[in-house]
Amino acid sequence: EPKPVPTLVVDALTVRFSGLVALDNVSFTVAPGTIHALIGPNGAGKSTCFNVVSGVYRATAGAVRYAGKDLTRLAPHRIARLAVARTFQNIVLTHGTVADNLMLGRHSLTRAGFTSTALRLPQAVREQRRHRERAAEIADFLGLGPAFDKPVGSLAYGDRKRVEMARALCMEPKLLLLDEPVAGMHPTERVAMAETIAKVRDALGISILIVEHDMGLIMRIADSVTVLDFGRLIADGTPERVQRDPAVISAYLGT
Ligand code: ADP
Ligand code: MG
Repeated sequence: EPKPVPTLVVDALTVRFSGLVALDNVSFTVAPGTIHALIGPNGAGKSTCFNVVSGVYRATAGAVRYAGKDLTRLAPHRIARLAVARTFQNIVLTHGTVADNLMLGRHSLTRAGFTSTALRLPQAVREQRRHRERAAEIADFLGLGPAFDKPVGSLAYGDRKRVEMARALCMEPKLLLLDEPVAGMHPTERVAMAETIAKVRDALGISILIVEHDMGLIMRIADSVTVLDFGRLIADGTPERVQRDPAVISAYLGT
């Protein structure tokens, strides 16, 4: 029986970088099975927040809790082991085939040790085959089926961003963190990616925290939204409410 999807709680988070307050006392909750968006102008503190949740940055004050655990001082690989997977804002994969990249995502789940895998012991071979089948399923789910054995370098930009997301999904996360998943995409690729993200929520039932600059995209797929500006939370609620908030409108018009 699958374990329940936990709630992510960001509690009074503050991050300072020598003098600069990147995040100032920010709190929000990501409910199980929902898409929660973190939006705001450039420099608002979105990636910083994301990096604290995934263990890459240290909080100056406040806490991040998930599945009854305090993540605030855990290393990134310990957080990943709690079924939290992330993508990066600017990484676009260039090496290997789609299958190779997805198998890297499966690596953290591999039970057989290095030696038995290298010696191709039957159990390790069976396990590798299962991982490959699951990776192929996830590729199909994200529309990458026909590209599975192609080099990622030969794919269109939008598809490479999809491989990045597929690789995160190959870790079988309960919480998926997406940093600007449609950045650099054409409008048609953006709409398709938004639909895919909503499909991931609906079909897998996992929670998704998404950082995005594109308001239109967020309004289409998010269940709840937190808006940051200069490190402060300026609005929090449903997309409809946040969109009409005067503080949000002026923050966006101001950039
Ligand atoms: P966003 O993702 O909303 O565009 P960031 O979280 O990347 O914003 O940045 C928020 C602020 O923190 C910016 O002023 C940025 O320059 C600063 N900042 C982010 N990361 C670092 C860092 N590692 N060292 C120093 N300053 C940083
Ligand atoms: Mg950013």
